[in-house]
Amino acid sequence: MNIQHDITIALTKGRILKEALPLLASVGIEPQEDLDTSRKLIVKSTVPGVSLVILRGSDVATYVRHGAADLGVAGKDMLLEAGGAGIYEALDLKIAPCRLMTAGPEGLGGDDASTRRVRVATKFVNVARAHYAKKGLHADLIKLYGSMELAPLMGLADEIVDIVDTGKTLAENGMAPRELIADISSRLIVNKASMRTRHRSVRIIVDALADAVTSKTSA
Ligand code: AMP
Repeated sequence: MNIQHDITIALTKGRILKEALPLLASVGIEPQEDLDTSRKLIVKSTVPGVSLVILRGSDVATYVRHGAADLGVAGKDMLLEAGGAGIYEALDLKIAPCRLMTAGPEGLGGDDASTRRVRVATKFVNVARAHYAKKGLHADLIKLYGSMELAPLMGLADEIVDIVDTGKTLAENGMAPRELIADISSRLIVNKASMRTRHRSVRIIVDALADAVTSKTSA
């Protein structure tokens, strides 16, 4: 891969990183250090000029929006929540699939039918606000940073908006999924200015990954 500019790719740590690394490796981009043992937050890759930074999902969109990273890999959930300003969504990488859903205690309804109000605990307050507004419900939103399933159990909220994969986490906490808000997978995002100023290099990486996704999904 002949990259002519310095390019930084921001990767979401955790599950997405685990699935993104083999995809990047298939196009020749591999970290030069073992990410499991290294404490470095920015590592060089095996492609000259290409560096990798490992971030929380919500920070990937921020780094790419401001041009601190040229490219990023983030869940669509994070992109929906962060909004699309300054970011170009180049590719569905079709990794880390899951669903963004409302959920609540099994056997109970969500909103108070008399007031059309519902108390919602979530990390995704912007997505939740839009979802309940579309349904004509007033949502009292409570921002949490983790363990959303706990909120209805503790009487903090009637419903949650959260990521659901197998549904095991919900079931183990006496909750059930209710409404699908969006199907989620990880996306390759590009800073809009980098798309112009580093076009050739960005294009090479986007095209290589597009081919890798196609051959993986048709295999
Ligand atoms: P599950 O019990 O399989 O439904 O998994 C749900 C939990 O795993 C949620 O609390 C999520 O935070 C997390 N999770 C599952 N899949 C993903 C994903 N693709 N991206 C981010 N988090 C996920």
